[in-house]
Amino acid sequence: MNQEWRLHAACRGTDPAMWDSPTYRSGADTRREVAAARVAMAYCATCPVWADCDDGALRRPPVGVIRAGRAYDGEGQPSKDCERCGEPILTRNRASARFCSVNCKNLTHYHAAQRERIAA
Ligand code: SF4
Ligand SMILES: [Zn+2]
Repeated sequence: MNQEWRLHAACRGTDPAMWDSPTYRSGADTRREVAAARVAMAYCATCPVWADCDDGALRRPPVGVIRAGRAYDGEGQPSKDCERCGEPILTRNRASARFCSVNCKNLTHYHAAQRERIAA
């Protein structure tokens, strides 16, 4: 397979540790890892070969790393998007999680309660 696109990857030459999925390893400083993952994903967002990378990631799910703007866990499952803001969910319990942060969760519940109050 032609891998020439890798020469143009935005992540080329960056620290490989930056591309570890924050949800994969245990005992890590979650907040720091999530912040680092967001930096990695910002690289992906401007990457000129994102489509090639995403295609490869879809065909061979990576394990425990970030690829094409998604964090993959130990089973190669990609992160889901937050139901409120659309950002990737990077917390450890993301299989059941619906929001990227406590803030998004609280705002969603607050607005639902407001709607109920208005409808009553
Ligand atoms: S999309 Fe992200 S992981 Fe893929 S080549 Fe570009 S910067 Fe690297
Ligand atoms: Zn969110």
